Amino acid sequence: EALNERLSSLKDINVSFEFFPPNSETMEQTLWQSIERLAPLKPKFVSVTYGANSGVRDRTHSVIERIHQQTDLQAAPHLTLVDASDEELRQLARQYWQQGVRHIVALRGDVPDGQPNPNRYAADLVRLLKQEHDFEISVAAYPEVHPEASCGQSDLVNLKRKVDAGATRAITQFFFDIEAYLRFRDRCAATGIDVEIVPGILPVTNYQQLLKFSQFAKVRVPNWLHHMFDGLEDDAATRKLVGANVAIEMSKVLAKEGVSDFHFYTLNRAELSYAICHALGVRSGLN
Ligand code: FAD
Repeated sequence: EALNERLSSLKDINVSFEFFPPNSETMEQTLWQSIERLAPLKPKFVSVTYGANSGVRDRTHSVIERIHQQTDLQAAPHLTLVDASDEELRQLARQYWQQGVRHIVALRGDVPDGQPNPNRYAADLVRLLKQEHDFEISVAAYPEVHPEASCGQSDLVNLKRKVDAGATRAITQFFFDIEAYLRFRDRCAATGIDVEIVPGILPVTNYQQLLKFSQFAKVRVPNWLHHMFDGLEDDAATRKLVGANVAIEMSKVLAKEGVSDFHFYTLNRAELSYAICHALGVRSGLN
Protein backbone atom coordinates (compact mmCIF):
# COMPACT_ATOMS: atom_id res chain seq x y z
CA GLU A 1 0.00 0.00 0.00
CA ALA A 2 2.79 2.35 1.02
CA LEU A 3 4.54 1.51 -2.24
CA ASN A 4 1.46 2.38 -4.28
CA GLU A 5 1.11 5.65 -2.44
CA ARG A 6 4.71 6.48 -3.08
CA LEU A 7 4.34 5.59 -6.75
CA SER A 8 1.31 7.80 -7.12
CA SER A 9 3.34 10.68 -5.71
CA LEU A 10 6.16 10.15 -8.20
CA LYS A 11 6.02 12.75 -10.88
CA ASP A 12 9.40 12.67 -12.48
CA ILE A 13 9.76 9.26 -14.04
CA ASN A 14 11.65 9.43 -17.35
CA VAL A 15 11.50 6.60 -19.81
CA SER A 16 13.37 5.70 -22.98
CA PHE A 17 12.75 2.95 -25.50
CA GLU A 18 15.22 0.92 -27.50
CA PHE A 19 14.43 -0.47 -30.94
CA PHE A 20 16.37 -2.42 -33.53
CA PRO A 21 16.33 -1.94 -37.31
CA PRO A 22 13.76 -4.31 -38.82
CA ASN A 23 14.86 -6.78 -41.46
CA SER A 24 11.54 -7.65 -43.09
CA GLU A 25 8.38 -5.92 -44.26
CA THR A 26 6.34 -7.38 -41.41
CA MET A 27 8.88 -6.39 -38.79
CA GLU A 28 9.04 -2.93 -40.27
CA GLN A 29 5.29 -2.56 -39.76
CA THR A 30 5.54 -3.87 -36.21
CA LEU A 31 8.28 -1.34 -35.44
CA TRP A 32 6.33 1.67 -36.69
CA GLN A 33 3.16 0.55 -34.93
CA SER A 34 5.18 0.24 -31.73
CA ILE A 35 6.74 3.67 -32.13
CA GLU A 36 3.28 5.18 -32.71
CA ARG A 37 1.93 3.45 -29.64
CA LEU A 38 4.82 4.49 -27.38
CA ALA A 39 5.38 8.05 -28.65
CA PRO A 40 2.49 9.61 -26.65
CA LEU A 41 4.29 8.53 -23.45
CA LYS A 42 6.82 11.25 -24.34
CA PRO A 43 10.00 9.26 -23.80
CA LYS A 44 13.11 11.29 -23.04
CA PHE A 45 14.64 9.63 -26.10
CA VAL A 46 14.35 6.50 -28.20
CA SER A 47 17.41 4.63 -29.37
CA VAL A 48 18.12 2.39 -32.33
CA THR A 49 20.69 -0.38 -32.06
CA TYR A 50 23.43 -0.92 -34.55
CA GLY A 51 24.74 -4.17 -35.88
CA ALA A 52 23.45 -6.61 -33.32
CA ASN A 53 20.48 -7.67 -35.44
CA SER A 54 21.11 -6.34 -38.91
CA GLY A 55 24.80 -6.00 -39.54
CA VAL A 56 24.05 -3.05 -41.77
CA ARG A 57 24.74 0.45 -40.49
CA ASP A 58 22.48 2.07 -43.07
CA ARG A 59 19.46 0.48 -41.48
CA THR A 60 20.15 2.30 -38.23
CA HIS A 61 20.50 5.59 -40.15
CA SER A 62 17.25 5.20 -42.00
CA VAL A 63 15.22 4.33 -38.90
CA ILE A 64 16.69 7.36 -37.11
CA GLU A 65 15.89 9.59 -40.08
CA ARG A 66 12.32 8.39 -40.31
CA ILE A 67 11.76 8.87 -36.57
CA HIS A 68 13.00 12.45 -36.94
CA GLN A 69 10.78 13.05 -39.96
CA GLN A 70 7.60 11.51 -38.59
CA THR A 71 7.69 12.16 -34.85
CA ASP A 72 8.84 14.73 -32.27
CA LEU A 73 10.97 12.13 -30.54
CA GLN A 74 14.67 12.56 -29.89
CA ALA A 75 16.26 9.61 -31.69
CA ALA A 76 19.68 8.38 -30.57
CA PRO A 77 21.58 5.98 -32.81
CA HIS A 78 23.80 3.36 -31.18
CA LEU A 79 27.30 3.41 -32.60
CA THR A 80 30.02 0.79 -32.18
CA LEU A 81 33.70 1.21 -32.90
CA VAL A 82 34.91 -2.36 -33.46
CA ASP A 83 34.15 -2.39 -37.16
CA ALA A 84 35.17 1.14 -38.20
CA SER A 85 38.32 3.20 -38.40
CA ASP A 86 38.61 6.43 -36.44
CA GLU A 87 38.29 8.41 -39.68
CA GLU A 88 35.07 6.59 -40.62
CA LEU A 89 33.70 7.26 -37.14
CA ARG A 90 34.57 10.96 -37.38
CA GLN A 91 32.83 11.24 -40.75
CA LEU A 92 29.79 9.48 -39.41
CA ALA A 93 29.70 11.77 -36.37
CA ARG A 94 29.74 14.84 -38.64
CA GLN A 95 27.03 13.37 -40.84
CA TYR A 96 24.84 12.57 -37.85
CA TRP A 97 25.30 16.07 -36.45
CA GLN A 98 24.30 17.57 -39.80
CA GLN A 99 21.20 15.38 -39.85
CA GLY A 100 20.17 16.76 -36.48
CA VAL A 101 21.30 13.88 -34.27
CA ARG A 102 22.35 15.24 -30.87
CA HIS A 103 22.51 12.07 -28.77
CA ILE A 104 24.52 8.91 -29.41
CA VAL A 105 24.72 5.64 -27.47
CA ALA A 106 28.46 4.91 -27.70
CA LEU A 107 29.59 1.29 -27.51
CA ARG A 108 32.59 -0.80 -28.31
CA GLY A 109 30.53 -3.62 -29.87
CA ASP A 110 31.39 -7.28 -29.68
CA VAL A 111 34.69 -8.47 -31.07
CA PRO A 112 33.89 -11.27 -33.57
CA ASP A 113 34.96 -14.76 -32.45
CA GLY A 114 38.51 -15.59 -33.39
CA GLN A 115 39.55 -11.99 -34.00
CA PRO A 116 42.21 -10.41 -31.82
CA ASN A 117 41.11 -7.81 -29.30
CA PRO A 118 41.62 -4.47 -31.10
CA ASN A 119 42.39 -2.74 -27.77
CA ARG A 120 39.99 0.05 -28.61
CA TYR A 121 37.27 0.71 -26.12
CA ALA A 122 34.01 2.61 -25.81
CA ALA A 123 35.80 5.34 -23.81
CA ASP A 124 37.88 6.05 -26.97
CA LEU A 125 34.67 6.45 -28.98
CA VAL A 126 33.18 8.82 -26.40
CA ARG A 127 36.34 10.95 -26.61
CA LEU A 128 36.31 10.94 -30.43
CA LEU A 129 32.63 11.93 -30.63
CA LYS A 130 33.09 14.73 -28.12
CA GLN A 131 36.01 16.05 -30.19
CA GLU A 132 33.76 16.28 -33.23
CA HIS A 133 30.65 17.82 -31.63
CA ASP A 134 28.99 18.34 -28.30
CA PHE A 135 26.78 15.25 -28.51
CA GLU A 136 24.88 13.98 -25.51
CA ILE A 137 26.39 10.56 -24.92
CA SER A 138 25.04 7.46 -23.20
CA VAL A 139 27.19 4.40 -22.54
CA ALA A 140 26.69 0.81 -21.40
CA ALA A 141 27.11 -0.45 -17.83
CA TYR A 142 27.07 -3.97 -16.41
CA PRO A 143 25.66 -4.55 -12.89
CA GLU A 144 26.78 -8.20 -13.12
CA VAL A 145 30.12 -7.27 -14.74
CA HIS A 146 30.93 -7.37 -18.46
CA PRO A 147 31.92 -10.94 -19.50
CA GLU A 148 35.40 -9.87 -20.68
CA ALA A 149 36.30 -7.72 -17.69
CA SER A 150 39.13 -9.01 -15.53
CA CYS A 151 37.12 -8.14 -12.41
CA GLY A 152 34.20 -6.01 -11.23
CA GLN A 153 36.52 -3.24 -10.06
CA SER A 154 38.26 -2.85 -13.44
CA ASP A 155 34.89 -2.81 -15.17
CA LEU A 156 33.80 -0.03 -12.83
CA VAL A 157 36.97 1.92 -13.52
CA ASN A 158 36.16 1.53 -17.22
CA LEU A 159 32.71 3.03 -16.69
CA LYS A 160 34.35 5.91 -14.85
CA ARG A 161 36.65 6.45 -17.85
CA LYS A 162 33.63 6.63 -20.16
CA VAL A 163 31.97 9.21 -17.90
CA ASP A 164 35.18 11.20 -17.53
CA ALA A 165 35.41 11.23 -21.35
CA GLY A 166 32.00 12.92 -21.52
CA ALA A 167 29.19 10.37 -21.18
CA THR A 168 26.26 11.71 -19.17
CA ARG A 169 24.20 8.56 -18.76
CA ALA A 170 24.89 4.86 -18.26
CA ILE A 171 22.29 2.35 -19.43
CA THR A 172 22.61 -1.07 -17.86
CA GLN A 173 22.60 -4.48 -19.37
CA PHE A 174 19.28 -6.15 -18.53
CA PHE A 175 19.11 -7.91 -15.17
CA PHE A 176 16.70 -9.68 -12.83
CA ASP A 177 18.80 -9.53 -9.69
CA ILE A 178 17.67 -6.22 -8.23
CA GLU A 179 20.14 -6.42 -5.36
CA ALA A 180 23.00 -6.70 -7.87
CA TYR A 181 21.79 -3.51 -9.57
CA LEU A 182 21.47 -1.63 -6.28
CA ARG A 183 24.93 -2.71 -5.09
CA PHE A 184 26.35 -1.67 -8.45
CA ARG A 185 24.68 1.74 -8.22
CA ASP A 186 26.18 2.21 -4.76
CA ARG A 187 29.63 1.23 -6.01
CA CYS A 188 29.32 3.67 -8.91
CA ALA A 189 28.50 6.47 -6.47
CA ALA A 190 31.42 5.46 -4.22
CA THR A 191 33.75 5.55 -7.25
CA GLY A 192 32.67 9.07 -8.11
CA ILE A 193 30.53 8.12 -11.11
CA ASP A 194 27.93 10.82 -10.83
CA VAL A 195 25.66 10.09 -13.80
CA GLU A 196 22.30 8.32 -13.72
CA ILE A 197 22.69 4.53 -13.84
CA VAL A 198 19.56 3.84 -15.85
CA PRO A 199 18.28 0.28 -15.46
CA GLY A 200 17.74 -1.51 -18.78
CA ILE A 201 14.45 -3.36 -18.42
CA LEU A 202 13.87 -6.36 -20.65
CA PRO A 203 10.21 -7.37 -20.60
CA VAL A 204 10.24 -11.14 -21.08
CA THR A 205 7.78 -12.99 -23.25
CA ASN A 206 10.03 -15.62 -24.77
CA TYR A 207 11.68 -17.37 -21.84
CA GLN A 208 13.73 -19.80 -23.95
CA GLN A 209 15.22 -16.91 -25.91
CA LEU A 210 15.93 -15.11 -22.65
CA LEU A 211 17.95 -18.08 -21.41
CA LYS A 212 20.14 -17.82 -24.51
CA PHE A 213 20.57 -14.03 -24.18
CA SER A 214 21.43 -14.40 -20.50
CA GLN A 215 23.99 -17.10 -21.07
CA PHE A 216 25.71 -14.98 -23.72
CA ALA A 217 25.64 -11.83 -21.59
CA LYS A 218 26.45 -13.67 -18.34
CA VAL A 219 23.34 -12.34 -16.65
CA ARG A 220 22.01 -14.42 -13.77
CA VAL A 221 18.51 -15.85 -14.20
CA PRO A 222 17.23 -16.33 -10.65
CA ASN A 223 15.24 -19.41 -9.65
CA TRP A 224 12.14 -17.36 -8.99
CA LEU A 225 12.09 -16.29 -12.66
CA HIS A 226 12.49 -19.87 -13.78
CA HIS A 227 9.63 -20.82 -11.50
CA MET A 228 7.43 -18.10 -13.04
CA PHE A 229 7.84 -19.39 -16.59
CA ASP A 230 8.11 -23.10 -15.83
CA GLY A 231 5.35 -25.06 -17.58
CA LEU A 232 4.36 -22.21 -19.91
CA GLU A 233 6.42 -23.42 -22.88
CA ASP A 234 3.30 -23.85 -25.03
CA ASP A 235 1.23 -21.03 -23.57
CA ALA A 236 2.25 -17.71 -25.09
CA ALA A 237 -0.79 -15.84 -23.77
CA THR A 238 -0.04 -16.65 -20.11
CA ARG A 239 3.68 -16.04 -20.66
CA LYS A 240 2.86 -12.51 -21.74
CA LEU A 241 0.78 -11.83 -18.62
CA VAL A 242 3.47 -13.29 -16.39
CA GLY A 243 6.19 -11.33 -18.22
CA ALA A 244 4.29 -8.08 -17.72
CA ASN A 245 3.78 -8.86 -14.04
CA VAL A 246 7.48 -9.64 -13.50
CA ALA A 247 8.62 -6.42 -15.17
CA ILE A 248 5.99 -4.28 -13.41
CA GLU A 249 6.96 -5.66 -9.99
CA MET A 250 10.67 -5.13 -10.70
CA SER A 251 10.14 -1.60 -11.94
CA LYS A 252 8.04 -0.70 -8.90
CA VAL A 253 10.74 -1.91 -6.53
CA LEU A 254 13.34 0.08 -8.47
CA ALA A 255 11.15 3.19 -8.36
CA LYS A 256 10.81 2.74 -4.61
CA GLU A 257 14.61 2.59 -4.44
CA GLY A 258 14.73 6.02 -6.01
CA VAL A 259 15.21 5.08 -9.66
CA SER A 260 13.70 7.83 -11.79
CA ASP A 261 14.86 6.85 -15.30
CA PHE A 262 14.01 3.58 -17.02
CA HIS A 263 15.24 2.27 -20.38
CA PHE A 264 13.16 -0.43 -22.07
CA TYR A 265 14.54 -3.08 -24.40
CA THR A 266 11.29 -3.21 -26.37
CA LEU A 267 12.43 -5.75 -28.99
CA ASN A 268 10.25 -3.54 -31.21
CA ARG A 269 7.06 -4.50 -29.35
CA ALA A 270 5.05 -1.88 -27.52
CA GLU A 271 2.59 -3.82 -25.43
CA LEU A 272 4.61 -4.77 -22.35
CA SER A 273 6.68 -1.59 -22.20
CA TYR A 274 3.48 0.42 -22.44
CA ALA A 275 1.90 -1.56 -19.59
CA ILE A 276 4.96 -1.11 -17.36
CA CYS A 277 5.04 2.64 -18.04
CA HIS A 278 1.37 2.84 -17.20
CA ALA A 279 1.97 1.05 -13.89
CA LEU A 280 4.79 3.50 -13.13
CA GLY A 281 2.41 6.39 -13.66
CA VAL A 282 3.76 7.39 -17.06
CA ARG A 283 0.64 8.28 -19.02
CA SER A 284 0.14 9.75 -22.46
CA GLY A 285 -0.08 13.48 -22.46
CA LEU A 286 0.81 13.78 -18.76
CA ASN A 287 4.56 14.38 -18.68
P1 FAD B 1 33.66 -1.13 -23.24
O1 FAD B 1 33.13 -0.15 -22.27
O2 FAD B 1 34.75 -0.71 -24.15
O3 FAD B 1 34.15 -2.42 -22.40
C1 FAD B 1 34.43 -3.66 -23.06
C2 FAD B 1 35.27 -4.55 -22.14
O4 FAD B 1 36.61 -4.09 -22.12
C3 FAD B 1 34.83 -4.56 -20.67
O5 FAD B 1 35.03 -5.85 -20.18
C4 FAD B 1 35.75 -3.57 -20.02
O6 FAD B 1 35.91 -3.79 -18.63
C5 FAD B 1 37.02 -3.81 -20.80
N1 FAD B 1 37.92 -2.65 -20.89
C6 FAD B 1 37.59 -1.38 -21.16
N2 FAD B 1 38.68 -0.58 -21.24
C7 FAD B 1 39.74 -1.39 -21.03
C8 FAD B 1 41.15 -1.18 -21.02
N3 FAD B 1 41.67 0.02 -21.23
N4 FAD B 1 41.94 -2.26 -20.79
C9 FAD B 1 41.41 -3.48 -20.60
N5 FAD B 1 40.09 -3.74 -20.60
C10 FAD B 1 39.27 -2.71 -20.82
N6 FAD B 1 26.25 -4.02 -29.26
C11 FAD B 1 26.12 -3.78 -30.58
O7 FAD B 1 26.83 -4.35 -31.40
N7 FAD B 1 25.20 -2.87 -31.04
C12 FAD B 1 24.39 -2.17 -30.20
O8 FAD B 1 23.58 -1.38 -30.65
C13 FAD B 1 24.51 -2.42 -28.78
N8 FAD B 1 23.75 -1.73 -27.89
C14 FAD B 1 23.94 -1.93 -26.54
C15 FAD B 1 23.19 -1.18 -25.63
C16 FAD B 1 23.36 -1.36 -24.26
C17 FAD B 1 22.56 -0.49 -23.30
C18 FAD B 1 24.26 -2.35 -23.77
C19 FAD B 1 24.41 -2.58 -22.29
C20 FAD B 1 25.01 -3.10 -24.67
C21 FAD B 1 24.88 -2.90 -26.06
N9 FAD B 1 25.63 -3.63 -26.99
C22 FAD B 1 25.48 -3.37 -28.34
C23 FAD B 1 26.59 -4.66 -26.56
C24 FAD B 1 28.03 -4.13 -26.38
O9 FAD B 1 28.53 -3.70 -27.61
C25 FAD B 1 28.87 -5.28 -25.82
O10 FAD B 1 28.46 -5.59 -24.51
C26 FAD B 1 30.37 -5.09 -25.91
O11 FAD B 1 30.99 -6.35 -25.63
C27 FAD B 1 30.93 -4.09 -24.91
O12 FAD B 1 30.63 -2.81 -25.24
P2 FAD B 1 30.94 -1.59 -24.22
O13 FAD B 1 30.59 -0.36 -24.91
O14 FAD B 1 30.35 -1.88 -22.90
O15 FAD B 1 32.54 -1.75 -24.14
